[in-house]
Amino acid sequence: MSIPKLADPTLFKTLGHINGEWVGADDGRTYVVDNPGTGEKVASAPKMGAAETHRAIAAAEAAFPGWSRTPPKTRGQILRKWAELMVANADDLALIMSTEQGKPLAEAKGEITYAASFLEWFAEEARRVDGAIISAPTNDRRLLVLRQPIGVTAAITPWNFPAAMLTRKLGPALAVGCTIVCKPAQQTPLTAMAVVELAVRAGVPAGVVNLVVGDEASLIGGALTSSPVVRKLSFTGSTEVGKLLTRQCADTMKKVSMELGGNAPFIVFDDADLETAVAGALVAKYRNTGQACTAVNRIYVQRGIADAFTRRLAEEVAKFTVGIGTTPGVNVGPLIDSAALAKVRSHVDDAVARGAQVAVGGSSHSLGGLFFQPTLLTDVPADALMCAEETFGPVAGITVFDTEEEVITAANATPFGLTAYFFTKDNARVWRVGEALESGMVAVNTGLLSTAEAPFGGVKESGLGREGSRWGTDDWTELKYLAVAGL
Ligand code: ADP
Repeated sequence: MSIPKLADPTLFKTLGHINGEWVGADDGRTYVVDNPGTGEKVASAPKMGAAETHRAIAAAEAAFPGWSRTPPKTRGQILRKWAELMVANADDLALIMSTEQGKPLAEAKGEITYAASFLEWFAEEARRVDGAIISAPTNDRRLLVLRQPIGVTAAITPWNFPAAMLTRKLGPALAVGCTIVCKPAQQTPLTAMAVVELAVRAGVPAGVVNLVVGDEASLIGGALTSSPVVRKLSFTGSTEVGKLLTRQCADTMKKVSMELGGNAPFIVFDDADLETAVAGALVAKYRNTGQACTAVNRIYVQRGIADAFTRRLAEEVAKFTVGIGTTPGVNVGPLIDSAALAKVRSHVDDAVARGAQVAVGGSSHSLGGLFFQPTLLTDVPADALMCAEETFGPVAGITVFDTEEEVITAANATPFGLTAYFFTKDNARVWRVGEALESGMVAVNTGLLSTAEAPFGGVKESGLGREGSRWGTDDWTELKYLAVAGL
């Protein structure tokens, strides 16, 4: 067992949360949550299914009238308190996360701050869910538009950012007055449980936030998507599962938000600042061991700067310290599971078989287990698997290009469109390329763009809807048109 030693051990929960109570599976069954860095067991989590999910939905339904009529200012105060509790307990939350997810402790703590920022942002937005009075065609009537909470909602979240992907949904849901049933990824339920424990301490009433945990996702997902009570599903995860859930939601015509996979291009033009581009590639590729939907998947470097960029990036990639996330000084952790490791290995082998060269790394790490060497490949051909699919691992591949037109065509030649990065000092090019890239988010001269103030989301097969920002409550409300006649 490798249970994290917490300042507040009561944050280490191992149960689901339904109608204000911490509960196990009805039949008492559990599954093992392990530490991907050590392979050791961290905890037993409940193996819940459809019956528990239906009870959670009923609890959310019962809590909806009270929560939706709670004044927005009060809802905002509770969200703010919750954000403050997350920041106050950031060390413990980070330790829980690093233990079950594998990411370096400093990154885990950064994610907690980022996760809390969504609760804080939506605490402020709660008072700004405004409607409108619109011009009427005749004098005898007035036309109003109300923005009302959708009702009972559901969230299904992934393991790569176990706290932030949850609060990015919980924040807007609670701000507008929705109640919610959440299903965290089976690999990382403990972070979600600790976050929900802080919701309870912040004063979120029973039934408003419910957490259903299990390792048979389709049972819980099937119950959530087939229920006529649930009016919206917000999902973050793979494109394949997102499409499946969208199809399942069609029968009851639920509103869906889908934050799915990406295939991010990273373009370095000849006139870029070399060190800025190298720093951007390091953070945008290797953070979270490359396991992010915003992670760089394809690096395109213009011929004039290609040698210098490759040399500098290789020097920096070779400096990473790989290891267990909770070990001081480690900045690249393990992959999440053996399937992830196999995919990373297959992408490297495929690229090499098609003519790519290994500049750094290229194989499993000497630590064994789920560790892979931070890797840099050059001369990656356009038909390599890693140019078409998300690698979701610490492997970067460089392709050299000549013209702006050529690289825009290559960057857009994908069904995905979540994030794109480019580096240039030419102001006119910033606008030209920024507008031409088919992507929900474009980062210019930086490798990090996610923030609560900005709308996060993709185009094409990367998803539907936006999270965060002043548009972030839109997906959780319905517009109601009220025509008042006979004046
Ligand atoms: P990843 O490949 O990153 O694990 P997934 O899309 O498989 O991404 O997982 C994201 C979330 O979707 C997790 O919470 C997972 O348990 C859940 N999930 C996976 N398959 C299903 C399914 N058939 N129904 C509902 N949820 C699912």
